[in-house]
Amino acid sequence: MADLERIRREIADEYAAPHNHPWVIGFSGGKDSTLVAHLVFEFLLSIPRSRRTRHVHIVSNDTLVESPLVINHLRQVAADIREAAEVFGLPMSVAITSPEPDKSFWVNLIGRGYPPPNRTFRWCTDRMKIQPTSKYIKSQASVTGQVILLLGVRRNESATRASTVARYDNGERLNRHNDLVECMVFRPIVEMSTKEVWEVLAMNDPPWGGSHGHLIKLYSDATGGECPVMTQKNEVAACGTSSSRFGCWTCTVVDKDRSLEGFVESGFAEFGPLLDLRDWIASIRNDASRRMARRRTGQVTITTDGVFVPGPFTPLARREILDRLLKTQEEVGYPLITDEELDLIRTIWAEDAIVISTAAARELVPHRF
Ligand code: SF4
Repeated sequence: MADLERIRREIADEYAAPHNHPWVIGFSGGKDSTLVAHLVFEFLLSIPRSRRTRHVHIVSNDTLVESPLVINHLRQVAADIREAAEVFGLPMSVAITSPEPDKSFWVNLIGRGYPPPNRTFRWCTDRMKIQPTSKYIKSQASVTGQVILLLGVRRNESATRASTVARYDNGERLNRHNDLVECMVFRPIVEMSTKEVWEVLAMNDPPWGGSHGHLIKLYSDATGGECPVMTQKNEVAACGTSSSRFGCWTCTVVDKDRSLEGFVESGFAEFGPLLDLRDWIASIRNDASRRMARRRTGQVTITTDGVFVPGPFTPLARREILDRLLKTQEEVGYPLITDEELDLIRTIWAEDAIVISTAAARELVPHRF
C-alpha cells in the first residue's frame, strides 16, 4: 500500500512552499483526479484559515460530446465542491472549460466535413481537450507567473500511462510541463495502485459531502479505463483508445464505444440512439460517394504510394449527418448540439457553397479564372 500519510505530508509540504503560485487540479471526474481533489480539499480543511494562502483551482473540461452520465456526474461533483468550498471559506474555485464553438466536434464534422477522427487523423483531442484546459492554465499563469498543475496520473494505470508518467520522472517532486513553460506538474498519487485508490475512495466520504458511491457505480456500469484531463500533446495517443471509458460518446477512434456500450448493457437503454448514431458515422467514414475529391485547400491528395486520399464529406453527406443528429436529439430529449454550433455550421456551409461552385466553374471554364 502506498503510504497515504506520506502522500498527505507531501501535499502539506508542497502547499507550504514559499511562493504564491496557485494550484490547478486537472479534474476529469474519474477516480484518480477525484482522489487528488479529495486529499487537497481535506488538507485545506485541516489547516487554520491563516495558512490557506495558496489558491486552488479545480478545472474540468467538457468537450460538448461527453458521455451523458459522465458529464452529469462531473457537473454535480463540481457543483458540490464549489458549494462546500464557499461554505467552508476555502480559497478554491471550480471551472469547467469547453472548446470554442469553432473547434467543436460537430462544427468540424458537419460544418467543415472533416471525416470522423481515427488513429491517423485525430483532429479532435488538441482542439477539444488540450487547448481549452491549456488556455485556462495559461490565463492563471499570466497573473502569478507560474502555476502548479496537480494531476491524478498513476504509473500503474496502464502501459501507455506508465510511459507518459516516466517522461516526468526527474527525481524531484515537481516536474516541468512538456508543453506549458509556465507550469510545473505535481503528481501526488503517482505510486498508488488502482486497488489502493478504490480502497481510499470506498472507505472515506468526500470532504465536500455525500459519498463516492455514484462514482463507484459509474465505473461498475461502464467498461474500459479512464480518460483524464489532457494538457499536453504527447498524451494524445491515449485519448479515445480502447481503454478509454470516459471519452466522447461520438468517438470513432475506438472500434466500439466501450463506455456507452457498458452503460447500455447495464440498463441505460436511452443511450442506444447515441450508440447507433456513432456507429453510423463511423460506417460512412470511408464511403467514397460521400467524400469530395478535393481537400478544403482545393488540392487533390495522392500519397507517395499512389493512394488517393479523399477530401471532406460532400455537402449532401454533411446535411445527412446533421439531419440524423437532430433526429437523435429529438429521440433522446436533450441537447446534443448548441445553437451557436448550428449557426456556425450554417455560416461555413454558405462559405463552402461559394468555394465549391467557384471550383466547379473553374473546371468547366478554366480560361475565365
Ligand atoms: S475521446 Fe475520441 S473523439 Fe474525444 S477527443 Fe479523444 S480521440 Fe477525440
